Amino acid sequence: MSLAPSATRAEARRPRAPRDEPRVARAWSALHSVLDPEVPALSVCDLGIVRDVVAHADGIEIVLTPTYSGCPATEVIEQSVIDAVNAAGVGPARVTLRRAPAWTTDWISDEGRRKLREYGIAPPAGGASGAREVPIRIVRRAAPLRVECPRCGSVDTERLSAFGSTACKALYRCLACREPFEHFKPI
Ligand SMILES: [Zn+2]
Repeated sequence: MSLAPSATRAEARRPRAPRDEPRVARAWSALHSVLDPEVPALSVCDLGIVRDVVAHADGIEIVLTPTYSGCPATEVIEQSVIDAVNAAGVGPARVTLRRAPAWTTDWISDEGRRKLREYGIAPPAGGASGAREVPIRIVRRAAPLRVECPRCGSVDTERLSAFGSTACKALYRCLACREPFEHFKPI
């Protein structure tokens, strides 16, 4: 057995025993089944709110960044995360909230964006790949963006209401296929 210098340095930075890795992997796997109560098409992993999973001697710590401060779903998500990891047999699980840096819709994975479209919700502008390099959040757009219809792909759409079924979504209508749909608002 050889110990690569890079592995030695990695161990020094993150003092985790190698035997903990299967526990971390099982916890991640369990987290993929925890759905956002407001957007049940997306798991907490698709949303990008799981920042880290750390195995400790006395349990598993899941580091979450809440989506919107004051979002009523946060407490529900916390409990679902704890329940799922405990059910996977790698607990006891505990959640640590990390509020900085703040979550943005750029953290939604490409897989998550695909799932949103399939669910009939127009994903927020931007993308998990590349978008995070650019500090576009500083720019506040005065006019709503052109939002693509998740059903037919037309950008000939109009906003009906700033709020859809939840505060994080807006209600739109497609002028091409006439179908209403929700848009996950970018923040
Ligand atoms: Zn359409």
